Amino acid sequence: MSYSVNNNGFYGDFGGAFIPEMLHHNVEELKNCYLDIIESDEFITEYKALLKDYVGRPTPLYFAKNLSKKYQSNIFLKREDLNHTGAHKVNNTVGQILLAKKMGKTRIIAETGAGQHGVATATVCALMNLPCIVYMGKIDIQRQAPNVARMKMLGAEVRPATSGSKTLKDATNEAIRDWIANPEDTYYLIGSVVGPHPYPDLVARFQSIISEEMKTQLQKQTGKNYPNKIIACVGGGSNAAGAFYHFLENEEVELIAVEADGKGVHSGQSAATTELGTSGIIHGSKTLMMQNSEGQITEPYSISAGLDYPGIGPLHAHLFKSGRGTFMGATDQEALDAAFELTQLEGIIPALESAHALAALNKLTLKKDECVVVNLSGRGDKDMETYMTHLSC
Ligand SMILES: *Cc1c(COP(=O)(O)O)cnc(C)c1O
Repeated sequence: MSYSVNNNGFYGDFGGAFIPEMLHHNVEELKNCYLDIIESDEFITEYKALLKDYVGRPTPLYFAKNLSKKYQSNIFLKREDLNHTGAHKVNNTVGQILLAKKMGKTRIIAETGAGQHGVATATVCALMNLPCIVYMGKIDIQRQAPNVARMKMLGAEVRPATSGSKTLKDATNEAIRDWIANPEDTYYLIGSVVGPHPYPDLVARFQSIISEEMKTQLQKQTGKNYPNKIIACVGGGSNAAGAFYHFLENEEVELIAVEADGKGVHSGQSAATTELGTSGIIHGSKTLMMQNSEGQITEPYSISAGLDYPGIGPLHAHLFKSGRGTFMGATDQEALDAAFELTQLEGIIPALESAHALAALNKLTLKKDECVVVNLSGRGDKDMETYMTHLSC
């Protein structure tokens, strides 16, 4: 079984490019040039230099001694929280901004829900001196004031999406409309392994630096060149795709994806896409998504804004359907408990998203001689307000 994208943009039954006729030209242009550009020596040299000096890579693969003792295993944390801007998202925005420049694009658009991808995009636009327009639901703008301030300080224009539920999917519609209206000069910078082909593949390639480093670091630190388990949280799935990438074909490695169960899978307030979702088309690709009987997207919920997404990328839908991936969920409370546990045991405050991955440790049977890597996708500074309200428990 193959876990790479095929020529038509599919991972098994999932993926493709289901887009309006008006977008065909833009997506074709990207599809026809992305591999030639990102695989060129010139691009790789520039990308790797920025990852090193701007982002701060390689990120450590940290052996968590106290956590390992607690779970009677060998647990390593891939420290994506130490990247510039505090999460893995910048690995992708640095790559795509370089690609946009090579394609001769002079204007960048993006959409954001929680604002994390908006900030990562505004950051690289400031770096490259390119104008940046970020579409964001009007309700999300109110909910995520600190990130809106960051984007503005970085020089981006934040445009409110005022239709529908005024959240992420409405911002996505606005961004797509903008791209249709500005096909020549504008680059649409997508933040996860979602969207029409080639975006899922493009983003997975940029995030694959995570497992590339993991492989070398593990070899050096343990003498093994693959772990027994890799655990990552899944919103759209980009940090998980990056952490799994170089081990997809190695069936010795168990790939564990953790979704947000929110207040409980069947509470009506969750983002547990593989549990609740069915096949459908969202954001231009065929994948698993949460929808009602009329095919309308149902509003997801999670305590962590980054996992609050009603679909998963097509690669993950394929990993789920084929059985290559192990999918599980963690509730808000389980994630909070895991965040406090990591903080107390290791002195590391994780992002709420990453805390969902950590919560899986409690649900798995780990062996003493096993090597387990948890992808710590981001740091918890942005979540302090939520943590403070739970500080007594
Ligand atoms: C955005 C975000 C996620 C979720 O996005 P993926 O594409 O699923 O990785 C996870 N962790 C952090 C810290 C994030 O900011």
